[in-house]
Amino acid sequence: MTTIGFIGLGVMGAPMAANLLDAGFHVTGYNRSPEKARPLAEKGGRVAGSVAEAVAGADVVITMLPDSPDVEAAVLGEGGVLDSARPGTLLIDTSTIRPDVSRAVAAAAAERAVRALDAPVSGGEAGATEGTLSIMVRGEAGDFAAAASVFDAVGSTVVHVGPSGAGQTVKAANQLIVAGHLELLAEALVFLDAHGVDLPSAITVLGGGLAGSTVLARKAPGMLARRFAPGFRVDLHHKDLGIVLDAARAAGVAVPLASHVADLIASLRAQGAGSLDHSALLLQAERLSGRHNELAERTPE
Ligand code: NAD
Repeated sequence: MTTIGFIGLGVMGAPMAANLLDAGFHVTGYNRSPEKARPLAEKGGRVAGSVAEAVAGADVVITMLPDSPDVEAAVLGEGGVLDSARPGTLLIDTSTIRPDVSRAVAAAAAERAVRALDAPVSGGEAGATEGTLSIMVRGEAGDFAAAASVFDAVGSTVVHVGPSGAGQTVKAANQLIVAGHLELLAEALVFLDAHGVDLPSAITVLGGGLAGSTVLARKAPGMLARRFAPGFRVDLHHKDLGIVLDAARAAGVAVPLASHVADLIASLRAQGAGSLDHSALLLQAERLSGRHNELAERTPE
């Protein structure tokens, strides 16, 4: 039986760790704010008091942390994963971070004979809970094969996307597509509402045509119910669009709509909505048309 050290038990990490337990793995989890580890303990997992304790004795270490500096601190920092992992350990970073940081983690891991895969995921909290995430994996083919049973426990579309940094590059493209979809869905809802159209019927028929998408299917019901608890925080999507714009510039690629949507998400965040779900783009679209001012009510002063 494989022992997994799981670091970062937030919106995504907690349900992923639960699915790994269900699949029969021994899971020892660590989260910086300890209360987030409670669901793991209640499900029969072990809770560690530090990264080192979670990593000790683990065959596989999974990180699911918010941003690049968090992964750098937890993996490369003092008392981090690489200080404690045994040679041969498989390190799977499922966080969405900058491709250059992923490459630096892989290089540092190789120096310690730790086998690193970067494996960002898509599918949101629902995908994490259902164990149906899409996973974009970069790393050696042998290491990818060795991780198959771990990936199968948390995902349903698992693709080895190629060389260094490519997992994060594909994930950046994913975030660009999702952000664009979501902004247009928000604008369409404001537009339909302004015309007095019955929104649930409109969403049903749109979902059956070319405008249908996973974004529409998963996000429209919450938007209609005006539920904006995350899910996927605006703060995290702001981070991801920064990764997209930096990587596009580095490749000399023009991404005009990405820049525009990045600005809209930056504006939403600047108005205090960083901890709401990214579907709160609806609140901003409404405000832009002077239709509601709920954004002001839902965000702290
Ligand atoms: P989250 O903020 O809910 O969870 C991250 C957890 O990591 C938190 O519980 C935090 O306390 C913990 N943490 C931070 N630094 C730590 C450290 N040094 N050691 C231990 N624990 C630490 O975020 P999330 O929504 O679960 O997202 C995690 C990553 O997955 C992000 O990179 C995000 O972009 C990506 N992602 C999120 C979603 C989503 O829908 N939420 C979907 C796909 C990918």
